[in-house]
Amino acid sequence: FPIVYSTDTPKSYYHSLFLSTSLADNASVAHNLYMLTRRPHVAGTEANAETADYVLTTLTSHNINSHIVSYDVALTYPDSRSLTLTPKPGHPPVAFDLRQEIYAGDPYADVASQVMPTFHGFAKSGDVTASVTYANYGQVEDFATLNEMGVNVSGTIVLARYGKVFRGDIVHNAYTAGAVGTIIYSDRKDYGGGGKDAGWFPEAKWLPPTGAQMGNVYTEAGDPTTPGWPSNEGCERRDYEEVERLGIVPAIPSLPVSGADGETIMKSIGGKVADEDWQGSDDAPTYRVGPGPGVLNLNYKAKKTIATIHNVIGMIEGSEEPDRYVILGNHRDAWTFGAVDPNSGTATLLEVVQRLEKLQKKGWKPRRTIIFCSWDAEEYGLIGSTEWVEDNRELLASRAVAYLNVDIAVSGEEYSASATPQLDELLKQAAKQVQDPDNSSQTVYDSWASASSSSPWAAVSSSSPSVKIERLGGGGSDFAAFVQHIGVASLEVTYGGAYPVYHSMYDDFVWMEKFGDPMFRRHIAVASIWGYLALQLADKEILPFNYQSYAKELQRNAEELEDQISNQITVTPLLTSIDALSKAAAKINNEIKVIEETIGWASIVKADFTRVREINDRLMMAERAFLDREGLSGRPWYKHMIYAPAKHNVYGTKYFPGIDDAIEQAKRLNTEESWKVVQHEVWRVSRAINQVTKVLSGEL
Ligand code: GLU
Ligand code: CA
Ligand code: ZN
Ligand code: ZN
Repeated sequence: FPIVYSTDTPKSYYHSLFLSTSLADNASVAHNLYMLTRRPHVAGTEANAETADYVLTTLTSHNINSHIVSYDVALTYPDSRSLTLTPKPGHPPVAFDLRQEIYAGDPYADVASQVMPTFHGFAKSGDVTASVTYANYGQVEDFATLNEMGVNVSGTIVLARYGKVFRGDIVHNAYTAGAVGTIIYSDRKDYGGGGKDAGWFPEAKWLPPTGAQMGNVYTEAGDPTTPGWPSNEGCERRDYEEVERLGIVPAIPSLPVSGADGETIMKSIGGKVADEDWQGSDDAPTYRVGPGPGVLNLNYKAKKTIATIHNVIGMIEGSEEPDRYVILGNHRDAWTFGAVDPNSGTATLLEVVQRLEKLQKKGWKPRRTIIFCSWDAEEYGLIGSTEWVEDNRELLASRAVAYLNVDIAVSGEEYSASATPQLDELLKQAAKQVQDPDNSSQTVYDSWASASSSSPWAAVSSSSPSVKIERLGGGGSDFAAFVQHIGVASLEVTYGGAYPVYHSMYDDFVWMEKFGDPMFRRHIAVASIWGYLALQLADKEILPFNYQSYAKELQRNAEELEDQISNQITVTPLLTSIDALSKAAAKINNEIKVIEETIGWASIVKADFTRVREINDRLMMAERAFLDREGLSGRPWYKHMIYAPAKHNVYGTKYFPGIDDAIEQAKRLNTEESWKVVQHEVWRVSRAINQVTKVLSGEL
C-alpha cells in the first residue's frame, strides 16, 4: 500500500475494506430474511409493526442511532368478497373460492391463514352483476382495439390480464371505457411458464394455478387523504368519500384472481375471436372478447381505516458535513411474506449496515451523514416514503445529496440499474468494483454490459452505449417523492428476472432459497454496490456527479421529440437550453478537475472547505432546479419537468412528461389551441433547464 502523507487513513482504504469478501456475510443476510418473512406483514398490521421493531433492534445493535417515525394513513383491507359466474343463461352459477392453495409440506402452512384474502388495495366496495368482456392487458390501446372491433365495454365487467401496465391503470382504463367492475388474473402464458408442463412452485419457480397477485389500484403517490402534506396524527384530512368522488381512488370495484379462475371465466366469454397476441398458451382455450354470455357477480366490501404505519429511520452522522444527507431506502411492508418483494432489500440494507459497523470500529467516519430508511406502506402507493418526504420537505430539499433506493434486491440473475443521469458514471464505476455473483471471472459491470448489448433496449436511453441505465420516472417505488416531488438525485439497483410469484402468497423464503438466490450471493453483490455508492457519495470531497451525462441524455430526448411533433412546434428553445446546460456541465467538470488535482488522491492537501462546499452545493441543487412549482398540468404533485410516470401506466417512464401529455391531447383534439399548449410545455421544460444551468454555473 503506498505511503500516505496524512495522519488519517484514506477513505479509499475503508471503501476497499467494505468490498472485501471477508466482510460479506451471506449467512446473516439469509438469517435476517428468514426472520423478516416468518409471517405475512401487510402495512398497518401488528405483524408489520413487529418487523419495524426487528429492523430498529438490528440497526441499534449495529450502532446506528435509530428511531421509528409513524404516520396515520388511509388504508383499506378486505372485509368480504365473493365472485360468482353464470356461464350461460339458465346455467347454475358457480362461486369461486378465491383461495391460494397450500401445497403439501409447505413450512408456512400454519401461518397461511394470516395471509389476507386476495384483494386490491383501495379497490372500491360494490356489488355488481354484468356480462364479461375480455380486454387483454387492459392497456389504453387494448380498449381502443375493442372499440374498433365494435365491442361495447360499457356496463360490463372487464376481465384483463396482468403483466403490461400497472394494475391501477387497468382499472382506470376499464372505468373510462364504461365498465362497472374489473377482474385481473395472472395468465399462465405469462406467470405459469407457458403451459401446463412447466410445473409450478414448489417444484418450479412458476405461479401455481391458484396463485393470485395482490396489489393496490391507486395511481398516485402518498396517503390519498393528505395530498401534499404529511399524515401526522390529528392532521387535516380529506374524507375518503370525497377522495372517491374526485376519482383519486378507483370508482369501480376490482378483484385479482388466479390463472385457473381467469381461464374459467374466459371460457364463458363468446363473441368475436380475439387477435393472436391476445391469446393464451398453446393449450389454452380460444380467447374471445364478449360481451357475455358469461355473467359475473362481483361483490366486494372494503374495510376503510386510518391505520398507523411505521418508518424506521437510522443514521450515521457525518463528521465534516453532518448537514448533508446520503439516504438509503427500502420498503418493509409486503402483501404476504415478502421474501423477494421487499425484504430481499431489507436483508441487504442490514448487510450494508453490518459492514459499515465494522468500518466504524476501524476508525471510519463518513464525511456526510448517511441515513437508512425502512419504509412502510409502499405497497399501498409509496405511502411511508411520501409522507416522510412531505413531512421533511424543505429540510430535505436543502440538505439531501442523493437518494439510493432498493426495493426488490434479488428476484433473479439479471442486474439492472436506474438513475437520474448525473449518477450514471458513479453507477458504472460501482458495478466495476464488484464481482459477478454468478461468474467469478468477471465483474457485475461485464455481465451487465453483455446483457445490455443483447437486449432490444441497447443504447436506447443510456448515456453510455455499454450498459443500459433506465430512468426513474415510473416503476412504482419509493424514489418517487424524492425525484418527482423534491428533485433529489436518485438511483435504484436490483438483481431482477422473471418472478412469477410476485405479490402472491408464494413469495416466501422457500422460493428465494430455491429459485431467487440459493447462496445469497446476489444479495451480497447488491449490498456491495449499494454500500459502495453510499460511501462514494458520503465520503468524496467533491460529489461524484456528472451533469454532462444529463445534458447528453436530454439532447437525445429532444431529438426524439423533434421527430414526433409537427413543424408547427419549435423545439429550438429546448435545444438552446440543453446546449447551455452542456457548457455549464463541462465548465463545472473542469473546476472539479482543478480542485481534485490540488486535493490529490489521498487528501495530502486539505482543500479549502468553503470552495469545495460551494461546488458541491451547485452539484446538489442543480437537480432541484428541474422542478417547477406548479408541477405537471393536471398532476401538480409531480414537479419534475424531465421525468414522471407515464400518464396511463405508473410502471412506465416518460421523459418531458408535460410535453408528452400535451402531445397526446393535441393529437386527440387536433385544434390550434391544443398545439399551442404543446409549445407552451416545450417552453416550460426549457425554462427549467435554464434554471439548472444557472445553479450549476453559479452565475447570475
Ligand atoms: N410497488 C407497488 C406495486 O407495484 C406500488 C406501486 C405504486 O403504487 O406506485 O404495486
Ligand atoms: Ca400526504
Ligand atoms: Zn416492493
Ligand atoms: Zn410490491
